[in-house]
Amino acid sequence: MYFKDYRRVLAVFAHPDDAEFQFGGTVAALTRRGAEVNYVCCTDGSRGGTDPSMTDAELTAIRAAEQRAAADVLGVKEVRYLGRKNGTLEVTEDLRHDIVREIRRYKPQLILTMAPFRVLDMPISLSHADHMAAAEATLIATYPEASSPRAYTDLLDEGFEPHRVNDVWIPANGDADRIIDVTDVVELKARAIKCHTSQLGGKTGKPAWSFDDRPGPALRAAGAKIGVAFAESFRSIEILKTEPAKGPQV
Ligand SMILES: [Zn+2]
Repeated sequence: MYFKDYRRVLAVFAHPDDAEFQFGGTVAALTRRGAEVNYVCCTDGSRGGTDPSMTDAELTAIRAAEQRAAADVLGVKEVRYLGRKNGTLEVTEDLRHDIVREIRRYKPQLILTMAPFRVLDMPISLSHADHMAAAEATLIATYPEASSPRAYTDLLDEGFEPHRVNDVWIPANGDADRIIDVTDVVELKARAIKCHTSQLGGKTGKPAWSFDDRPGPALRAAGAKIGVAFAESFRSIEILKTEPAKGPQV
């Protein structure tokens, strides 16, 4: 499908803040065009940050508030949590089951998720084990499980009918085949990242976050490939073949 034709999009990721760093500009571009974007965050983020005096419950509440604020900046409708502890995410049937429920709930045409493998030419933080597990579980949940009427019949009993997703996009670098111009919304992406105050250092001994360190250079490099100031790049996986709408690729 063409970018302009996506009306329902689901982002599935590991931690509060992943979506903003990895594809916040694309999310903002989608919602500006009228698409409905919803988030599924697999963990509660309770092990993030650097303050050992804070309880898990306190940090979970702070990060949920930060994530909701960031989602509001980008125009995201709902944020759902699957409640796992970060640092513990694995590709289990139990996790896939819960992701299938959300795919069937929101019936997305496009799923945005993370890279399901370790990317050796990128900073190691992008290949966090939770990111890889969330992504691989999402890919298996997308195909074949979400569309299979014989997978997770308990979800049928809950009223969640099988659904076929058209495409999955994962953030990519050298092998990207979808490069989205986010120049007009890059300010929103930066504002949304800034909402995650508890993770951005400064007061906690870590250097304070700066857009020019992350993700500025990657956005500029992707933008240079298509002649714009800022872009986000993805590798697309076609799940359901559809006839593209007529008109230029956008
Ligand atoms: Zn993360």
